[in-house]
Amino acid sequence: MTAAIKKFIGEVVLDCQDHGITFTFSRDEKVSAPGEGPELASCGFFEGNDKILTCSRVTSWLWTLIHEYNHMQQWKEDAWWFSDEAASMWQDFWDWLEKKVELSPEQVQKTVKAIIACERNCEERVISMITSTQKRLGIGKRAYIKQANAYLAFYALVVEKQSWYTKTSPSQSLRLQALVPANRIISVEEALNPSKKFRKTCLEECFNTSAP
Ligand SMILES: [Zn+2]
Repeated sequence: MTAAIKKFIGEVVLDCQDHGITFTFSRDEKVSAPGEGPELASCGFFEGNDKILTCSRVTSWLWTLIHEYNHMQQWKEDAWWFSDEAASMWQDFWDWLEKKVELSPEQVQKTVKAIIACERNCEERVISMITSTQKRLGIGKRAYIKQANAYLAFYALVVEKQSWYTKTSPSQSLRLQALVPANRIISVEEALNPSKKFRKTCLEECFNTSAP
């Protein structure tokens, strides 16, 4: 581990302490937020209400940590995405994915647009952090943008399939990352309207199905 990465982790630990956040690395490959089923597990999460930041230490942990840490920065700034109103929208969406509640197509669209907007804002923050000369974390900007864009466009398939990924995480799929821009974060509209090729590849890579 480089000195710059150690320093960054030290900053995260201190920032978490200052804000009453419990920060842990998990030995598990996938982690679920409190109250969520294993169907919704991912490489890491930040939960403002529960004050928890957890990352799997298994794959690309630094990329996950820097992403989740920037959600914590949004929360520190009282961004709308961490309001009670947003929390109940997110909860409905996760419950809908687990098929516990029904939502109208309009409700689903409204929520997924808000989620993608939150994720885009987070990714823009990550990119300025990894390109800041003081940080030197060794994360390539173009490589990071590609995996961020693959994740954003994956949400279109989450809605279509009413399911979280059941195979490979979009952030781990090089085939998906080859199909998205490397020089900018895609818009909400672009994320929700991926190319046919992206859709087909995403179904193969992230879900246990292929395109009809
Ligand atoms: Zn995120």
